[in-house]
Amino acid sequence: MKGLKFDRAYWKSRLKYPDWYIRLEKELGEHIFPIVHGDPVVKKFRHQVYELIEELLEKGEIPLAIEGPNFDAERKSIDTIVIHHTEEEVGIRLSKLSAIGFVRQYGLRYLQNDVLGRKLRGNPIWSDHFRNGKMVFFVYHWLVRPNGQAERLLKDEYIGWHSGVWEINTRSVGIAFSGNYEHEKPLAAQIKSAAMVIKKHYPQIDRKRIFGHLEIKKNRTCPGEYFLKEWKAKLLNLI
Ligand SMILES: [Zn+2]
Repeated sequence: MKGLKFDRAYWKSRLKYPDWYIRLEKELGEHIFPIVHGDPVVKKFRHQVYELIEELLEKGEIPLAIEGPNFDAERKSIDTIVIHHTEEEVGIRLSKLSAIGFVRQYGLRYLQNDVLGRKLRGNPIWSDHFRNGKMVFFVYHWLVRPNGQAERLLKDEYIGWHSGVWEINTRSVGIAFSGNYEHEKPLAAQIKSAAMVIKKHYPQIDRKRIFGHLEIKKNRTCPGEYFLKEWKAKLLNLI
């Protein structure tokens, strides 16, 4: 996309309002929400947006709701695991990953005036999910780094908005591989770490209920082209 320039002052001025997503509806619809792989201009623009949102969320400068609905009322017992990749830099800060969920998932649902069936358009955003006392907007329960480090993002009693299929979300945990594995394979340490998370925390789950995101949602490529060909089998063998 030519001529796509990030106007920081413009975005910042709108992000100060509780209904920032309505004030930025056109820009979000054109540049942030569409699924785009590997376009460096779009990617650069998005990262500037994400990093501004991260910064403002960290400083408490984007008004958030102070109360809201229980979005986890439909949580079922966990019998499914969905594997993802973040498609972002491997060392991404958790605050940036949360900012991405804030705009891409929560911003979109609030704009569409359908937040799990509730009409909340115009309201400040509420996730009902907290980590270390702060509201967070992660869509995955776990993030696994290439060095084998696994970080918990959401409690298991929270429904992660990760698969694009609500019924699956209610009964699953999302495990994201940090990095972009669209055309690459994750490292052995990363696969092992995900297997350890599953073994330790979800021993009850049948291996047949471990899926890649692309097996749940047919128009997705996540977690990349080698998942079904190669590393799904490696992962299952380690569990
Ligand atoms: Zn995914």
